[in-house]
Amino acid sequence: MNKTSIYGLTLDGLTSWLVENGQKKFRAAQIWDWLYKKRVTDFSEMKNLNKDCIDLLEQHFVIQTLEQAVKQESKDGTIKFLFKLQDGNLIETVLMRFNYGLSVCVTTQVGCNIGCTFCASGLLKKNRDLSSGEIVEQIMNVQHHLDSQGKDERVSHIVVMGIGEPFDNYDNMMDFFRVINDQKGLSIGARHITVSTSGLAHKIREFADENIQINLAVSLHAPNNDLRTRIMKINKAYPLEKLMPAIDYYLEKTNRRITFEYILLHDVNDHKEEAIQLAKLLKNKRHLSYVNLIPYNPVDEHNQYQRSTKEAIVEFYGTLMEHGINCGVRAEQGTDIDAACGQLRSKQIKKNKVTS
Ligand code: SAH
Ligand code: SF4
Repeated sequence: MNKTSIYGLTLDGLTSWLVENGQKKFRAAQIWDWLYKKRVTDFSEMKNLNKDCIDLLEQHFVIQTLEQAVKQESKDGTIKFLFKLQDGNLIETVLMRFNYGLSVCVTTQVGCNIGCTFCASGLLKKNRDLSSGEIVEQIMNVQHHLDSQGKDERVSHIVVMGIGEPFDNYDNMMDFFRVINDQKGLSIGARHITVSTSGLAHKIREFADENIQINLAVSLHAPNNDLRTRIMKINKAYPLEKLMPAIDYYLEKTNRRITFEYILLHDVNDHKEEAIQLAKLLKNKRHLSYVNLIPYNPVDEHNQYQRSTKEAIVEFYGTLMEHGINCGVRAEQGTDIDAACGQLRSKQIKKNKVTS
């Protein structure tokens, strides 16, 4: 059987495991220091551990299971990594440079079952969930790449917006957060982490009860059920009558601002009428709402959708503003390297099919 990555264990998890295996508790902090501060990639480099402990770790874990298959760098500094998992599946991870820091977009599942009609990731059904270790590993791979450049750069922000629906892999996602947020680990502040969901209402409620300060983004994309069901099949299971009360519960419980993502699709959901409907939908929570208008990244297989015109985007934005809704248009990164969700992976898989 393949060994799992030690990055998947929270500090508490590793401590219990060590104690169960006859080791001293304090070893956990030492191991974490090697993993996340000194960032070694081999257990044998953990100099203050005795041989017994190193042997034990080597018997049960590996540090890295991901293999870098492709690395593409964009003119704007965005880097896209395609990783091969132990079972041969491919996933992607993106590093983006902003004026506020370095942000990494991680994948949580191999494929996605939500099947939104505009998305490249949903073209392939979910093959499996990623383990917490495989999600942490994506960040560590990017951090190791930065370390190798010798510029003392740190990953400072995380967006869980890669392939997959994170709330459909909830427990592993939460362990991932615990590992990267821990001060003894990468110590990435909760306020610097954003998770995006297509709207699994019951999980939004569960997330509200977690008592953590991680930011929540909800992919709304339409202000009424008819249109939303057309664009996102998940709206049948979680229509607005279920989704919006879950969001209200989250807002009440956390008093934290939510981001609503809204991809602008030409002549589908980008009319003035939809902007007005959206403003009405968010009216009672506009003090805690931010609408992120996303220019659509065209996907070959979904040629029924095109990007909205500049005029339509400006009008949509203006209408929301007139109605007192906080909003912005997302700046694009790495469009020359297929950096949009799932695109590099789906192209790579097609290429492999043609060549093999
Ligand atoms: N499954 C989650 C998180 C991953 S998708 C979700 O759907 O929220 C992250 C964001 O990228 C979502 O808002 C999604 O709607 C958006 N997205 C997907 N495909 C896109 C495309 N081709 N162009 C622009 N945004 C896209
Ligand atoms: Fe899945 Fe999100 Fe893509 Fe929808 S947009 S198919 S939920 S990854």
